[in-house]
Amino acid sequence: MKNPEIIVIGSGIGGLCCAGLLAKAEKKVLILEAHSKPGGAAHSFKKNGYKFESGPSLWSGIGSWPTTNPLGQVLKALNQKVEIIKYQDWGVQIPEGDYTIGVGDKVFIEQIRSISGRDAIKEWENFIKVIKPIGVAANAIPLLAINSNKETIFQLIKRRKKLLKNLKSFKYLGGAFGKLVDDHLQDPFLRNWVDLLCFLISGLTKEETNAAAMATLLDDWFKPNAYLEYPKGGSESVVNALLRGIYSYGGELKLNSKVNQIIVKNNKAIGIELENGEKILSNHIVCNADIWNTIELLPKDVAKIWSTDRKNIPKCKSFLHIHLGFKAEGLKNIPLHSIWVDNWSKGITTDRNVVVLSIPSTLDPTMAPANKHILHGYTPANEPWEKWENLKIGSEEYIKTKEERCSIFWKPIKKIIPDIEERIEIKMLGTPLTHQRFLNTKNGTYGPALSAEDELFPGNNCPIKNLLLCGSSTFPGIGIPPVAASGARTAIKILGPRFQRNLINELGI
Ligand SMILES: Cc1cc2nc3c(=O)[nH]c(=O)nc-3n(C[C@H](O)[C@H](O)[C@H](O)COP(=O)(O)OP(=O)(O)OC[C@H]3O[C@@H](n4cnc5c(N)ncnc54)[C@H](O)[C@@H]3O)c2cc1C
Repeated sequence: MKNPEIIVIGSGIGGLCCAGLLAKAEKKVLILEAHSKPGGAAHSFKKNGYKFESGPSLWSGIGSWPTTNPLGQVLKALNQKVEIIKYQDWGVQIPEGDYTIGVGDKVFIEQIRSISGRDAIKEWENFIKVIKPIGVAANAIPLLAINSNKETIFQLIKRRKKLLKNLKSFKYLGGAFGKLVDDHLQDPFLRNWVDLLCFLISGLTKEETNAAAMATLLDDWFKPNAYLEYPKGGSESVVNALLRGIYSYGGELKLNSKVNQIIVKNNKAIGIELENGEKILSNHIVCNADIWNTIELLPKDVAKIWSTDRKNIPKCKSFLHIHLGFKAEGLKNIPLHSIWVDNWSKGITTDRNVVVLSIPSTLDPTMAPANKHILHGYTPANEPWEKWENLKIGSEEYIKTKEERCSIFWKPIKKIIPDIEERIEIKMLGTPLTHQRFLNTKNGTYGPALSAEDELFPGNNCPIKNLLLCGSSTFPGIGIPPVAASGARTAIKILGPRFQRNLINELGI
């Protein structure tokens, strides 16, 4: 593309949602992606007919309309559909035993009964009653409708009845979830379970996770007939749907195009320089890289105080990964997801204490060759970078440490597939160094470790004119729905209040 009006650095879900709306508004948008695959944390890769996933496995709110999920809203705005497979159940292997849990009101209640008894059910039902209005309040105004502009005032006035009705719950939205849990849940299993869910969505404990995010999630997951959505074909299908939308409006994506520097003149971003020295100028730059990588793209002398402050934002820990391709003959009732917790008393953030396993080919046979399965396992944001920073990929010590640390996966995998070792055709282990390399996140982090107790995630502004940010380092935070919202809000910031109003009217949200 010649003379793009806007360059988006990075094709994570945030960057793609931003680029999609910019392209829809007839802006000439060029996305520059360092990796050979689009999608960032949500990219997929193929090997011997297996389709492996690098990140998200839990999706919802993208396959049907209306939806409160900002990603579903952006897909709709781009006229794109993602085929989904509905499911409800997960396997859990926790210190109390092995159970099927999942979403919806029935199965979980049955499991609370068998784990903790009747009183705990009452506690849970009361808790959900307390949480529900907070979830409703969080959904009373869509994230796409709020931005720091005059249209937001109009949107607030338009929704005043709904907002006033839920006024009492608004005080909870900006804070942490922990206090609500402490006030309403005493049962140890329920407290641990909520702590685990908080950790899985934010990389932080319940004391630090945002209450609005958890209230919407619990309200959504534990309502009658709730279901989750697996995108048929995996994360790649979501990324491809966003790309189809972008291309349909004339936007472009360039892979293997690592940006080395954002060119700044008189405190104004005017273009970028690629690793190969090529310079591309544009009116606006949006950076979807994490905040630590973004700062490294800026000339050292610009916005010094801002960049030092942001650089010092604490990071969530990293990941260990295991990818397996294996023979499926004779395997029955394999859970799509399994979550394993070794010991609640160690604390949910302790390294190698929690493992998530995902075997999407149980639900979607297109993910693996016939009669084969794929498995992606990871330790969610609990692997310390410090254990890896001085190791060299390929060195003897690295290989030994990798085998040792990743041995944590075998116990939960063997519980589901006892003879897994005889079935394996492909095995790949990943460490924080691999995560950093392929997901392009600093130190392989999940994102900023910002406690909701102290502050919200920073917005998409930066002191350099014509440079905006989006993605998991910006408001509303980490995870697919928040980064989609962040990308959309950044596009709206560039396009202005009229685009915002038209979009909201068009979507009817
Ligand atoms: C293992 C794992 C499991 C997860 N599970 C879930 C889940 O089940 N549900 C959920 O909602 N969320 C989940 N998440 C979180 C979610 O996937 C991420 O928060 C989200 O995808 C991040 O999107 P982003 O827009 O911030 O960009 P990222 O995905 O971080 O992408 C940023 C992009 O920018 C590119 N880039 C960086 N620097 C440059 C440069 N200099 N030049 C060019 N390109 C550059 C990178 O290559 C990358 O493609 C999971 C994450 C991981 C890692």
